[in-house]
Amino acid sequence: MSTESIEGGTLSNLSREDRTFEPPAELAAHANVTAEAYDRAASDREAFWAAAAERLDWAEKWDRVLDWDNPPFAKWFTGGKLNATYNCVDRHVEAGRGDKVALHWVGEPIEDKRTITYADLQREVCQAANALTALGVEAGDRVAIYMPMIPETVVAMLACARIGAPHTVVFGGFSSDALASRLVDCQAKVVVTADGGYRRGAPSALKPAVDEARAKTSSEGFDVEHVLVVRRTGQDLGEHGWDDAVDVWWHDAVGSASTEHAWEPFDAEHPLYVMYTSGTTGKPKGILHTTGGYLTGTSYTHHAVFDLKPDTDVYWCTADVGWVTGHSYLVYGPLANGATQVMYEGTPDAPNKGRWWDIVAEYGVTIFYTAPTAIRTFMKQGREIPDERDLSSIRLLGSVGESINPEAYMWYREVIGGERCPIVDTWWQTETGQILISPLPGVTAGKPGSAMRPLPGIEADVVDEAGESVPNGSGGYLVVKEPWPAMLRTIWGDDDRFKETYWSRFPGSKVGGKGFYFAGDGAKRDEDGAIWLLGRVDDVMNVSGHRLSTTEIESALVSHPKVAEAAVVGAADETTGQAVCAFVILRDSAGDGGEDIVEELRRHVQKEIGAIAKPRQIMIVPELPKTRSGKIMRRLLKDVAEHREVGDVTTLADSSVMNLISQGIGSSNED
Ligand code: ATP
Ligand code: MG
Repeated sequence: MSTESIEGGTLSNLSREDRTFEPPAELAAHANVTAEAYDRAASDREAFWAAAAERLDWAEKWDRVLDWDNPPFAKWFTGGKLNATYNCVDRHVEAGRGDKVALHWVGEPIEDKRTITYADLQREVCQAANALTALGVEAGDRVAIYMPMIPETVVAMLACARIGAPHTVVFGGFSSDALASRLVDCQAKVVVTADGGYRRGAPSALKPAVDEARAKTSSEGFDVEHVLVVRRTGQDLGEHGWDDAVDVWWHDAVGSASTEHAWEPFDAEHPLYVMYTSGTTGKPKGILHTTGGYLTGTSYTHHAVFDLKPDTDVYWCTADVGWVTGHSYLVYGPLANGATQVMYEGTPDAPNKGRWWDIVAEYGVTIFYTAPTAIRTFMKQGREIPDERDLSSIRLLGSVGESINPEAYMWYREVIGGERCPIVDTWWQTETGQILISPLPGVTAGKPGSAMRPLPGIEADVVDEAGESVPNGSGGYLVVKEPWPAMLRTIWGDDDRFKETYWSRFPGSKVGGKGFYFAGDGAKRDEDGAIWLLGRVDDVMNVSGHRLSTTEIESALVSHPKVAEAAVVGAADETTGQAVCAFVILRDSAGDGGEDIVEELRRHVQKEIGAIAKPRQIMIVPELPKTRSGKIMRRLLKDVAEHREVGDVTTLADSSVMNLISQGIGSSNED
């Protein structure tokens, strides 16, 4: 165990992990991608991505793989033309695979199921494309999609892509205010929505929020032209819930449209969608993704990282389509690869806490991709629930969204993966569009808690303040040094913010070349060169001159048998500059943790990683503040720890959580 701290922008390397898991021999023997890919990419990166692009069908071949003449504005596959939806749908039908299941859709009400083949998808997408065109949507117009997790959501996205109208999907759990600000920001012409969806065992209305958002944008001088409404729950829309001048039923407009639609090729750099970030650190940013590079990056990484065998695998990504994970690894990547997928509408605990595992068993899911927040929730509830179900079909597990603590990784591996499945811990962002750092399941011996190394074709590195690579065994800033195909092209309507946010920390003038993309995350490279994500650099604590990251201390806490989840922040401290403050959720089996729980946990952290990381203060809390995609919002906890008024909570999933935590803070243990 080492606790050395390196001054000047790097981070202390506190924890050590010696466990590794070799790829299963059977998987390695038939892996889609082998170690050869790293060498090929290293010898000619552009040729490597050009080969990945060849996996798609192009109407016109590109002239140039990468145009990086005007950094930070990259263009990929310039001169090339393609249609994203043709690649995700039609080409599979044309290849004779129209009867293959694209989506096993599972509604939250237990009896609600739909099986959608690629031929079905093609018909519905054509109808929706025709209906949108009839509503006046043309290539380049923006369409907002505010929907529950139902097949029509995927159909709407693909219909937009088919006609070249960039979509912006707004998570269905967001308020009318959040919807309104996004409608205005991207000037959406049409909104696609539903009367409601099912959440936690009950219908939950959506259409009224669209009406409220419209009223709000109107007062700001902006009007959407039409709202296309799917009837999902059949709930009453209320007396003023329908405006004949604007509202159109999906079953009328789409239902009556022709099932044929001639797709049109679009430029490789044609905008595909705008997606707003989760807002963990502040106001969400409208991230623009374009067509050719994005589809290349997502389909290749889906093929490589998940080792998808389209004829035999049943793939399930639990992310909502309202997040980038739902875009890249539920819609575009898997469909471009001809996958058979599960798509589930509801919450994991409806009607009981085993619902996800029942679905795995029913459909024989082989590849399962979820977030650490979900894994830690299942850890909290106890292994009896998954243990009662047959999860033997699973052959590969994935994780995304936050660092997976080694303890959560081990639990995932043992309880869900039956100790036979590799885990791919995939690091990426809304901005990166595609996975950048991850094990390759047939190549990499994984370490619990590490995203391991950059994928072939990706030049990611850990650097110090000056932009120099840090030596193995130390921490710093995670940067990407060369463009990658699915990278964001800009922040919608705000090129200056794009440059300032991602390219100003390590400009070309400082690091040579054309500058580095800086993602905001801290990371370390261990003695073997494996990469460990350490949390946001803005959250780094400075304790007696030691720069400590949040992730390692949180992982130490989660490794205690009574702990399910932990969040750590630095709070101002008179003697040490900052002090470590921890917020901890206990496992259900631990009850209230016992009288000495706080001391027990403080000692545990000291034993695991050293005295410097020992929390000054630990609060046992029932919940942590999270965004709607389940990420912990540490900046709010920092406000609490420093006894300040809590900052902007608009992207929080449940704002009452902060009151609970603030009330508790007075009674907690401090010394
Ligand atoms: P905002 O940028 O608006 O504050 P956000 O960064 O939470 O929101 P996302 O793009 O959804 O929005 O999240 C990307 C971030 O999630 C990464 O920068 C990283 O901090 C975290 N992350 C994603 N995957 C991993 C992973 N495998 N390991 C560690 N952290 C991860
Ligand atoms: Mg971010």
